[in-house]
Amino acid sequence: MSRRFIQMYKTCFDKFRLPKRYQGSTQSVWNEYTQLFIEYQPLSLAHGFTDSPVPKYITDTLAATAKSSNHLLNQYTRDSGHPRLVHALSAMYSKLIDRQIDPFNEILVTAGAYEGLYAAIHSHIEDGDECIVIEPSFDSYAPVVKMCGGVVRYIPLRMKNPNNGIISSGDYVLDDTELEEVFNSKTKMIIINTPNNPLGKVFNRAEMTKIANLCIKYNVLCVTDEVYEWMVYDDNEHVRICSLPGMWERTITIGSAGKALAVTGWKTGWAYGPANLIAHLQIVHQNCVGTNVTPLQEAISIVFEDEFKRLESPECYFNTLRLELQAKRDFMINVLKEAKMEPIIPQGGYFILADWTALEDKVDLSSETDPQRDYRFTKWMIKNIGLQAIPPSAFFNEENKKLMENFVRFCFVRKDENLQKAADILKNWTSK
Ligand code: PMP
Repeated sequence: MSRRFIQMYKTCFDKFRLPKRYQGSTQSVWNEYTQLFIEYQPLSLAHGFTDSPVPKYITDTLAATAKSSNHLLNQYTRDSGHPRLVHALSAMYSKLIDRQIDPFNEILVTAGAYEGLYAAIHSHIEDGDECIVIEPSFDSYAPVVKMCGGVVRYIPLRMKNPNNGIISSGDYVLDDTELEEVFNSKTKMIIINTPNNPLGKVFNRAEMTKIANLCIKYNVLCVTDEVYEWMVYDDNEHVRICSLPGMWERTITIGSAGKALAVTGWKTGWAYGPANLIAHLQIVHQNCVGTNVTPLQEAISIVFEDEFKRLESPECYFNTLRLELQAKRDFMINVLKEAKMEPIIPQGGYFILADWTALEDKVDLSSETDPQRDYRFTKWMIKNIGLQAIPPSAFFNEENKKLMENFVRFCFVRKDENLQKAADILKNWTSK
């Protein structure tokens, strides 16, 4: 290679580098584990989407919308959200939070919950603002805060009764003193996620009230990621923090049609909250996504309108989904126990964390080079027993990764036959 060519290459390389604001962000666990799936074709209990067909009436609604004689349903619609969808969302959430939500000013339709989170953070975090992130946390929160010049203050959920036998995600709690200490005059935002991915924790009313009181005391904005709001088991209650006294004014709630209707590929979500805050999100949204996909929004509106009418009925999709998932959760808990993996019983969501310490002598992690033990363990599983799960340390910052390195995250929104296949794989391996 000529010296001139090398010099030219270097000049381009220097100039076209990744901007500083993105530096430090590494490849996401989703990218890496999708690639591993393509390469090794394991049975996947990794990614958070169902392997079952979507209910026919949902896909039929989309097909009918795309073919509708109203040809405008295939053209751009209103930037902040298709009118029919914002009305459907307003009807649903106004009832759930017992407050009238203005469809045109208090809701923004986004490209999945991802974009809702992105717009909420981008439109409120400035240089030096502190943002509290509760760990384990969905892995997009912290990088986005950092790219806005914000400072992330992490606070982990800690197990409160390590020796009480059965462990539930409810046994993981925030320490009151740590929580109070993480708030200060620079705190601009706290991000919560209930039900939590990957732990399955559903924050109860008392826990929410503590967080709410601190938000009010320190004048902090609360971004609440509630994409698993319909998947809450046993007698746990999904508490929407925006409905607590003094919280509507300072809360942006994020939801996802992908999760609610098991159509993650539709990538449609929303943010709702007071008009002054949602207007800021719209500024970020209008120069990035502009308009969301019209036929998808129309189809989601129709499904939401129908489900809203039968919200209290056992036939409502959200109710059938919850019962179906609870049975799958219980099946997986038994499978994991039999395999000597100690599960943390999730109160919500569709993931289970399980401790694999007792299986340590059945794996040889020396062939894997990742610094985190759970990455090495999950890669060993993919390559040696053909089962894929997610390493939970991906949901922690460097300092706290050790907290869950002995765990692995399984997704249980799978066909029964595939959960049975996972059971057989684990049994064959662990009974040897
Ligand atoms: N938040 C959490 C906690 C999630 O688990 C996910 C998806 N796995 C998202 C947000 C993103 O949701 P969407 O697909 O609607 O963008």
